[in-house]
Amino acid sequence: MQAMIFQKHGTPENLEYAFVPRPVPGHGEVLVKVRAVALNHLDLWALMGMRNVAIPLPHVPGCDISGEVIEKGPGVKGIPLGKPVIVAPGVSCGTCSYCKSGWDSLCPKYNILGLQRNGGYAQFAAVPARNIIPVSKKISFEAWAAVPLVYLTAWHMLVTRANLKKGETVLIHAAGSGVGSAGIQIAKYLGAKVITTVGSDKKAQIAKKLGVEHVINYRKTDFPAEIMKITKARGVEVVLEHIGPETFQASLACLAKKGRLVTCGVTSGPTTQLDIRFVFARQLSIIGCYMGGLPELKSVIRLIEKGQLKPVLDEVFPLREARKALERMESRANFGKIILVPPHKD
Ligand SMILES: [Zn+2]
Repeated sequence: MQAMIFQKHGTPENLEYAFVPRPVPGHGEVLVKVRAVALNHLDLWALMGMRNVAIPLPHVPGCDISGEVIEKGPGVKGIPLGKPVIVAPGVSCGTCSYCKSGWDSLCPKYNILGLQRNGGYAQFAAVPARNIIPVSKKISFEAWAAVPLVYLTAWHMLVTRANLKKGETVLIHAAGSGVGSAGIQIAKYLGAKVITTVGSDKKAQIAKKLGVEHVINYRKTDFPAEIMKITKARGVEVVLEHIGPETFQASLACLAKKGRLVTCGVTSGPTTQLDIRFVFARQLSIIGCYMGGLPELKSVIRLIEKGQLKPVLDEVFPLREARKALERMESRANFGKIILVPPHKD
């Protein structure tokens, strides 16, 4: 089959178009014909290599897959062939106390497609049957591929962890990022007021169409000062933080007393300084989030099926142009999800 793979860690330059053997679904697995796969920053982490994460080489990245199941491995029952599905990106045991309580991402066996195992930058992918979620044809394969990782993460952050409520104000960083655009929609669905940041006026226009109350161009204005102006010096109840050291301290400074900061990622680096006095005196919460559970993903999918949440797509590239697509994401030129489409004759 055709795939985009890398043989050694590095940059998108290391990604190459290759013919590799089609995977064979093992016990409890199915073979998915990949119709679309979305890009995530995780793909860049996989490319660069991560300390303490075993990434098999050569490697097929890509964790957000939509497609059709075309073959079942031994022991798989009840999954119809040739129907649209999405694949949950997190692989877990399904039997431990974390999995049973919907906290799959804390499972000791937890791993992610396209990271610790081969993913979807290919015509076909073998995945656990447990990860298959049937979906309708109401939206395209490209739109479905945009859903799993970012909607799951944003839902886990805002609903499960931050307990964001109607009438509260939330700061969501980077409206143009996948988790940003998903977070905005979930926050609006919950009835919260949204303030978001963007790096260009063009992105500000698109963000406004998502229904946010305020957009701040962080390249032009100091965002914490702007937040204080907007909230009349009160601050926001919740911050959805995924940038890291570039914004972390300023994000804390934006919080109202008793505010909650939920964090899921560090696109600008791993460590930051923290004035602990500020955290306890204002009784703030810093809440860590990592992916989410299968039941949460199914909740988000129900809202997408009803049209209450709409995946935001940026550009669609043929699979072979994965390098160009990754460079687009790396340069933060995108608004919404960048999608790759593998070639299939039918
Ligand atoms: Zn488990």
